[in-house]
This record gives sequence, structure tokens and C-alpha cells, in this order.
Amino acid sequence: MSTCLFCGIAAGTIPARQVYSDDHLVAFHDIQPQAPLHVLVVPRRHVSTLNDLEPGDATLVGEMVRRAAIIAADHGYDRRGYRMVLNCNADAGQSVFHIHLHLLGGRRLGWPPG
Ligand code: AMP
Ligand code: ZN
Repeated sequence: MSTCLFCGIAAGTIPARQVYSDDHLVAFHDIQPQAPLHVLVVPRRHVSTLNDLEPGDATLVGEMVRRAAIIAADHGYDRRGYRMVLNCNADAGQSVFHIHLHLLGGRRLGWPPG
């Protein structure tokens, strides 16, 4: 998927402020942060939407969630709290079609979300 923005960031051909990288995942700061901490956690493998996850991807998704929790804790937000968001398709406002987990922290987050 050479035209995919987040595949490009994962491959290092598109610059990003990376906070974490391993064989399966990359995490980097969102370019338009919606909170003092706004990090995106993405799988290296291209998966367009949550609808495209396969049964064998349960571990991958678990790694995304666990990594985001560690990044939140690294920033000191584990006790006060933070939010994880995964948007799917138009009604949720998905704009980049390579799945990504938003980690938001550092301010009070309203509920219900907009
Ligand atoms: P979503 O609307 O859930 O698809 O989220 C896509 C997110 O990607 C948005 O929060 C954008 O600000 C963010 N984004 C778009 N381009 C970049 C980029 N080049 N580097 C980092 N984040 C980006
Ligand atoms: Zn991709």
C-alpha cells in the first residue's frame, strides 16, 4: 500500500514524531493534537478499517491497546485517566484508512463524544 499515509510513516518514508516502534506497531504524535497528549498507535501491516480485522488479529489489537496504556503511563496519565478511540468509516469520521488507535490525555474529555 505505497499510497497509504500510515504505511509510509511505519516504513519511515513519511516523517512523524515517533514515540514507539516494534516489529508489529508504530506510535507517533498526531499532527493535529486534540489534547496535550494525542498519540496514534498503528499496526505496521495495512488494515483499512476495523471491519477488515481477521480472527488472528486479536493479539495485534491487544498489543495496540496495551502499548497505548504504557505510553499513557509513561506520560504520567495512568492515575488521572485518558481515552482510547478507534474510528470506523464515515459516521465515526475516519479519515485515514489504515486502522489507528487514538490515545488522548492531559485534559478532561467530554462524554458523550461529539
Ligand atoms: P481518523 O479521523 O480517526 O481517521 O484520524 C486520523 C488522524 O490522523 C487525525 O487525528 C489526523 O490529525 C491524523 N493525521 C493525519 N495526517 C497525519 C500525519 N501526517 N501525521 C500524524 N497524524 C496525522
Ligand atoms: Zn496502510
